[in-house]
Amino acid sequence: MHELSVLDEAQQLYDQLVAWRRDLHKHPEIGLEEHRTAKFVAETLRDLGYTVETGIAHTGVVGLLENGDGPVIMNRVDMDALPIQEENDAPYASEVPGMMHACGHDAHVAIGLGIATLMAQHQEAWRGTLKLIFQPGEEGMNGAEIMVNEGVLENPRPDKALAIHVWNMMPVGVIGAVPGSVMAAAERWQAELRGKGGHAAHPEDTVDPLVAAAHVVTALQTVVSRNVGAQETAVVTVGMLRSGDTFNVIPDTAELRGTIRTYDPEVRETVVTRVREIVEGTGQAMGCDVTLQLDALTPAVDNDAEVTHLVQSVITDLWGDDALDIEERTMGSEDAAFFMDEIPGCYIFIGSGPEGGEGPPHHNPHFDIEEQALVNGVALVTEALCRLMPTDAG
Ligand SMILES: [Zn+2]
Ligand SMILES: [Zn+2]
Repeated sequence: MHELSVLDEAQQLYDQLVAWRRDLHKHPEIGLEEHRTAKFVAETLRDLGYTVETGIAHTGVVGLLENGDGPVIMNRVDMDALPIQEENDAPYASEVPGMMHACGHDAHVAIGLGIATLMAQHQEAWRGTLKLIFQPGEEGMNGAEIMVNEGVLENPRPDKALAIHVWNMMPVGVIGAVPGSVMAAAERWQAELRGKGGHAAHPEDTVDPLVAAAHVVTALQTVVSRNVGAQETAVVTVGMLRSGDTFNVIPDTAELRGTIRTYDPEVRETVVTRVREIVEGTGQAMGCDVTLQLDALTPAVDNDAEVTHLVQSVITDLWGDDALDIEERTMGSEDAAFFMDEIPGCYIFIGSGPEGGEGPPHHNPHFDIEEQALVNGVALVTEALCRLMPTDAG
């Protein structure tokens, strides 16, 4: 930015960022129902001079700031909370029973508004169009996909994209920006094996779906170990197996549910095919009728090399080499992938754990963050946006 460094500027916003984040934390809203949050975001953006569109994917908000000729750069923020009862007794703990910002999206909204503030105050430092996308329903509600289907990536279409997540697995002050896949593609699958129930003393008169299901679970373990190369990455998990009610009855059915996580599209195709073949083939070999439903949830988040290198240089310029983490990737999924699939971008992990350690895990009733992460997020993204929209680019 200029005279006063972006770090100082962001640090001066600290009290404001904390106040925003704590207010949002007290008032969590479930995905696609973030009405209070969206209203607050829209009002704040309007006050800052942004052109604001609301009601995209129910409660999504887009703020546009046009500032001369230059590229269109988007920053994506997710806004939703989780159906979790908060177990912290902080003064800013959730006031909504059974609902909590346990993933840090309250921090994301505060950071997004901090970025909006600095970018509006320092239009001498950049040229182009800033598109701030506040997305509803990230937690398994397809908010990003709905927004994309409703045309959020058009008029204007962004040239590059940024997105952040506060990250309690890294200490505050460390920031992860890694080229390539950083979050996994996700599938959800569920299968029903239908056999023929009967007396537990006469299995010969039955088709036992429970034994078939046990074979399916075991056989699925060969997908990653035998079908995926050792250099590749994949996870196949059976998260639910349900069959039978008592000791002396062979049940009619068994039900299985699970997920698949992969980075590479070819590996994804292989794993999906093998899971299908094994569930159906093993179930049928054991005499069961098999129904399998396999749904693709999100693609992988694949960071663009060029944008990621720019972000890495911002991190080392602002905080030094030790602040940059180049290894943080996860088999978790994230629907920012629907934006990143179309727009080259970088998904960034902002360390929010305590100094030198890890904070409470995400999606945990004790989740909380080190609030200096708010400042770091604002400084990083603001500086990256300015470099992506330079004043000397014509
Ligand atoms: Zn989450
Ligand atoms: Zn999250």
